[in-house]
Amino acid sequence: MALIVQKYGGTSVGTIDRIRNVARRVERYRDQGHEVVVVVSAMSGETNRLLALAQEVTASPSPRELDVLVTTGEQVTIALMSMALQHDGYPARSYTGGQVRILTDNAHGKARIQAIDDHRIREDLAQGRVVVVAGFQGVDDAGNITTLGRGGSDTTGVALAAALGADECQIYTDVDGVYTTDPRVVSNARRLQRITFEEMLEMASQGSKVLQIRSVEFAGKYNVPLRVLSSFDEGPGTLITVDEEDPMEQPVISGIAFNRDEAKIIVRGVPDIPGAAYRILGPVGDANIEVDMIVQNVGADNTTDFTFTVHKNEMEKATNVLRSVAGEIGAKEVQSDASIAKVSMVGVGMRSHAGVASRMFQILAKESINIQMISTSEIKISVVIEEKYLELAVRSLHSGFELEKEPFESD
Ligand code: ASP
Ligand code: MG
Repeated sequence: MALIVQKYGGTSVGTIDRIRNVARRVERYRDQGHEVVVVVSAMSGETNRLLALAQEVTASPSPRELDVLVTTGEQVTIALMSMALQHDGYPARSYTGGQVRILTDNAHGKARIQAIDDHRIREDLAQGRVVVVAGFQGVDDAGNITTLGRGGSDTTGVALAAALGADECQIYTDVDGVYTTDPRVVSNARRLQRITFEEMLEMASQGSKVLQIRSVEFAGKYNVPLRVLSSFDEGPGTLITVDEEDPMEQPVISGIAFNRDEAKIIVRGVPDIPGAAYRILGPVGDANIEVDMIVQNVGADNTTDFTFTVHKNEMEKATNVLRSVAGEIGAKEVQSDASIAKVSMVGVGMRSHAGVASRMFQILAKESINIQMISTSEIKISVVIEEKYLELAVRSLHSGFELEKEPFESD
């Protein structure tokens, strides 16, 4: 018998039929003797509908009232879910975030969970009830309703699992797991049986949008085994967990992430003197522009080309900031390029395997894809290439590293 927290996203509870389906899945777990806490999102589209209503009233609704408004979406779902369970003869009870007491700070719209009072949940579980909790919401210590940011129900699920010491936190969604890369780009992308928290964070921050990033950080910090699986079919999904002890058991590469949202900025002919990097990136940071990759190298004439990437939406702003800076520091010119893409190979196995980078570059070279920038970390190698080659790059890397094959089956 295990204690399982199951979180169901908006599409999984988008209609009454689907709510009934979820109830039946919960009931099967109960029949097997497991204790179940269910966390639900608002029915699909509901949060957006509520936000649009607010916009009809005023262009700048108060964050406190917005939270009061949008949390009603989840309140609808918990009640319907409990009713569906009770209808089938399974005792159940619903709670809003404030009723459980999911205590947060008072940052409306992006609150952070500070503490969870689990005693009511434990009492209900002991009485044989299924406990249904509204995702995405909490209360601050003055009793104001707060929300955790879009997609925050994932975090509620993980936080409850951590607080209850659950055996597993299952995140049900409309995909059946985490894939080696986006199956829309590589048709034989493979569902991963497992991936580590670290790898998942790299995959997610690169744009594989299966889980709210914060929930993965939370799960990693409290070591809550997370499983992503589909609410529409059966299957084991993908288990997100800590690093395998034995490096022989680790695939070298777990997946390929990519991102079309970045743009490249080059400051040419920067004098090679102390403080130059600071004088470039200082004003960029002051303008609240986030920088991702940075590359610089000194040329023969003692100047450097200082290159970095920012989000495409901030390219104009960053370029304008730097046009005035360039004059001050004696740089030649500022150029920008939005037609780039970033491709990253991710895998904890890189720590114990050499040669991944050279193999990656060899595969790209064979396709005559030019690499514009490179950055590496312990478990990731990223390259910036021309955007029009993105799909070709991802496909050839995927097959070059044989990611479609289960790593430890045959050889
Ligand atoms: N309903 C909220 C949203 O759409 C929270 C969630 O679904 O996780 O962001
Ligand atoms: Mg979601």
